[in-house]
Amino acid sequence: MTTLLNHTHDTARSSWLASANAAGTDFPIQNLPFAVFRRRGTGEPFRGGVAIGDQIVDLAAVSRNAGLQGLAAKAVAACAQPALNDFFAMGPDAWQALRHGLFALLESTASGAAVAALRAGLVPQAEVEYAVPARIGDYTDFYTSVHHAANIGKLFRGGDDVLTPNFKWIPIGYHGRASSIGVSGQAFQRPMGQALPHGASAPVFGPCARLDYELELGVFIGQGNALGAPIPLDRAFDHVFGICLLNDWSARDIQAWEYQPLGPFLAKNFATTISPWVVTMEALAPYRQAWVRADGEPQPLAYLDAPSVREAGALDIQLEVWLQTEQRRANGAGPARLSHTSFRHQYWSIAQMVAHHTVGGCNLQPGDLLGSGTVSGPTLDQAGAMIELTAGGRNPLTLEAAEGAGPAETRGFLQDGDAVILKGWCEKPGHARIGFGESRGQVLPAIGA
Ligand code: MN
Repeated sequence: MTTLLNHTHDTARSSWLASANAAGTDFPIQNLPFAVFRRRGTGEPFRGGVAIGDQIVDLAAVSRNAGLQGLAAKAVAACAQPALNDFFAMGPDAWQALRHGLFALLESTASGAAVAALRAGLVPQAEVEYAVPARIGDYTDFYTSVHHAANIGKLFRGGDDVLTPNFKWIPIGYHGRASSIGVSGQAFQRPMGQALPHGASAPVFGPCARLDYELELGVFIGQGNALGAPIPLDRAFDHVFGICLLNDWSARDIQAWEYQPLGPFLAKNFATTISPWVVTMEALAPYRQAWVRADGEPQPLAYLDAPSVREAGALDIQLEVWLQTEQRRANGAGPARLSHTSFRHQYWSIAQMVAHHTVGGCNLQPGDLLGSGTVSGPTLDQAGAMIELTAGGRNPLTLEAAEGAGPAETRGFLQDGDAVILKGWCEKPGHARIGFGESRGQVLPAIGA
């Protein structure tokens, strides 16, 4: 575990950029997440960037200014492109070389021409727009929170056997849709579709009436694997570049009617929103912890079990969901918090998702995206979807009051104009707090409305 840590995790290190040292910043020098950006409203090419404080290190500019050497120089050249696939494909040595090269240039003790050039090329985060950070060839969404699965099982199927018999043996997933994945700021039309009204014998067609969000992590695959060459569990994290926030928007009424026997289809394919910043596995190293399968639970089959995962396969990432309504927005009031949980409660680890995905020979490719599945904690107030928080809409939430928010509002499901904001961060004593920024997406009126 300690071998994962190095000088870039040292809390004693700081940056010459004051905003990177501010208490509570998501982007101290110990984080250095990657995105693809350009100055908003310009025709500039999109290119890679690294967040530091409230600024972005323009990696295309760093590449032009030749401030890095060796493998770091090769890596930063790959980041000058409008998608980071080639950089992801270079693997952990290159990722680390670039992180450590940038760290050296950003540290408070750094000086020289390369530092001056980097400083002159900083772009304020407030002035940019982002793109999806990689060309996502394939997107797979998992279903790995036992608490979410139990809550949903009760709502969708009822009875005593709320978990399907495979849940504790397989990291369950389905192949999703990459084309409708958008970056934070995405707005989408409420989907149309079929639903079976309660007690009816034939479905109706219309706008989704039970629109929901799902709080998830997005996992960007770095190095891929050849077809027919599974990734062993013990090596799985070497194939993960990093993690972002992911909102798997879900049409619950469409889902309930269509999901048997082949799983979600139109209920999930109309939009998925991710945060622009991808936090690297190296930045997350201090927040890895033991992955535990309790005594009395089925222990994983051999291909899903390894000492390295038992030792440090879980991740303690704090996650929150916030809701901004049309009324609050019009009144100038901020969003209301809906829930708070941690990814450490997840039943399966990211490494197990990668190993299971490939065990039959499937090839993952650089830039492929995995959704972790809804992250719901052990108590209902830690649920990562509104369908759980409201028991299928039966117990609408009353949104927390705020100065100037106007009359009390309730929600059973999402309304037009609602924006859902996901936030994530890691913190613990002795280590730097690092954050993920946010993923924000907004519901527009239905298609054809
Ligand atoms: Mn999902």
